[in-house]
Amino acid sequence: MQTVDEFKKLLTQFVACKSISTDPAFAPEITKTVNWLKQLFTQHGFDVETFNGPSCNPIVLAHLTTHNSLPTVLVYGHYDVQPADRSDSWNSDPFSLVSKAGRLWGRGVLDNKGQVLIHIFSVLQLIKQQKLALNVKFLIEGNEETSNPDLPGIMRKNKTKLKSDYVLVSDGELVGDSPVIESSLRGGFNLTLKYTTAANNLHSGLAGGAVPNAALELSRFLSTLPKFTRLYQDVDPITSAQKANNRQLLKISANPLEIFGVKKLLMEPGLNVYTQTGLRPTLQITGLKSGYIDAGYANIVPATAEARINFRIVASQRPKDILALFKKFVAQHTPKYVKYEITSAGIHNPVKLNTSQPIFKSVADILTRVYGQKPLLKYVGGAIPFISDVKATFGTDTISVPFGNEDCNMHGANENFRLDLIKKGLAFSHHFFSSDKI
Ligand SMILES: [Zn+2]
Repeated sequence: MQTVDEFKKLLTQFVACKSISTDPAFAPEITKTVNWLKQLFTQHGFDVETFNGPSCNPIVLAHLTTHNSLPTVLVYGHYDVQPADRSDSWNSDPFSLVSKAGRLWGRGVLDNKGQVLIHIFSVLQLIKQQKLALNVKFLIEGNEETSNPDLPGIMRKNKTKLKSDYVLVSDGELVGDSPVIESSLRGGFNLTLKYTTAANNLHSGLAGGAVPNAALELSRFLSTLPKFTRLYQDVDPITSAQKANNRQLLKISANPLEIFGVKKLLMEPGLNVYTQTGLRPTLQITGLKSGYIDAGYANIVPATAEARINFRIVASQRPKDILALFKKFVAQHTPKYVKYEITSAGIHNPVKLNTSQPIFKSVADILTRVYGQKPLLKYVGGAIPFISDVKATFGTDTISVPFGNEDCNMHGANENFRLDLIKKGLAFSHHFFSSDKI
């Protein structure tokens, strides 16, 4: 109990730093957070430095050598959080940690401050107990929520400083109450497609019926998206072992209809939700803009229309190839009288992890001991760009072991972390860093 109280004390301080990376107004809070982390690490004998990039918040690297003969683990996490405002359906101040109903509540309590702090805290405890059995490096960045454009370059430039035998990340959710080891993550990119059909919006009475309408032209194009079958180019075939693993996941998870709040799941034949989201690509229209939609009506023929599209692709696909194919598809399906423009951003590679290496067996054993059940593999639909950057820079397969509860509501109001799962996370981390078998 004492351990959890001490953990809570530290997390309270960490959460109180309003390290919102999306809004430059919070820059002083970012500085406060970085200083807090630096102090915490230096107090415990770590060498600490920060990396700066042209468009990112300081990245903290803390390094402790226990003994030269021991393997080194690099733990990655992020100190930045999504915005949060009390007025936005929060039951309490998001930056003041609350312990209630068996959970801790606050912004970043799980994503990712709470989860990375589990590892920091365990390591600090083990230092005190002189039981730390590994050399440790913590890399904690401040722009995970905004896709850090500088991180891959900084990693390449500081390869020697970041070098490690293993890489460990905890930044996600369990399935039900069961442990999982993440086995692949989707990659992808965002894209804006803008259609222009005239120099200005036109009068719907004087021109309507005689001129092209950007909203209609874009809608027509969007309705052809299912014909973009090249989206499935280079997708790895799904194995029967993967299907069996995902059938097990479905058995232990909450009902997906309830998780998503939808009436029906629309999947390819023979696939369940874990296979569909983890091992198949998708493209999603994430936003649409055209014409006039404020109070009253504007009798116009819109001259422009814009769609935002998010692409999620799987190993072994390459985002650049899919983007090039999509550009061709747009050219083919856009009438000559429509001018169009495509911009893309946030390109990141999918990653497939080789979880058959011995270290993953050790991790699975620790998870089994702590949770009382064997971990399943999780093919993650989302992305942690750092994990693909590690693979590209070092060739290392990251050990990605989430601790969070599925109903944590990260990014939303009342983000929370179940105390029983925090305890399990601490137990895992304690075993991991004190084990001489790793
Ligand atoms: Zn997040």
